[in-house]
Amino acid sequence: MSAPSASMKRTAFLRRKAYLLNALSGCCRKCQSERDLQFDCITPRGHAAHGSGLYARMLFYVREFEVGNLQLLCARCHRQKTIEDRRALGWIRDAAFLEEPAPAASQAPAQASLSTASDWEAFCARHRGTLGT
Ligand SMILES: [Zn+2]
Repeated sequence: MSAPSASMKRTAFLRRKAYLLNALSGCCRKCQSERDLQFDCITPRGHAAHGSGLYARMLFYVREFEVGNLQLLCARCHRQKTIEDRRALGWIRDAAFLEEPAPAASQAPAQASLSTASDWEAFCARHRGTLGT
């Protein structure tokens, strides 16, 4: 069995993305915004679980959707939820997090657990731009 080609992956990515956007009503679950939408795992699953590359990540989101653990959030609500998740887990370092610039995606390690605050930032960086705006 040969690996799917880049164009097959791209097509599958776009189909899954459209499917999920439609299934999740195409707007932010919290504020109903239709702008800057991002997929969010209701219960955080961890950076390593997302897979590498858009194709693998969208497959991951489809699986999360099938078990009822996926929602759409706008970038603002997603950021707020991430802070709340961090706080709930005791990883919040300082209240200035909201004002911090987003870490660059290129800083994200290929594989990481979510055991430290910097892991969380890498995780968030990977989430950002999921929908390829
Ligand atoms: Zn929102």
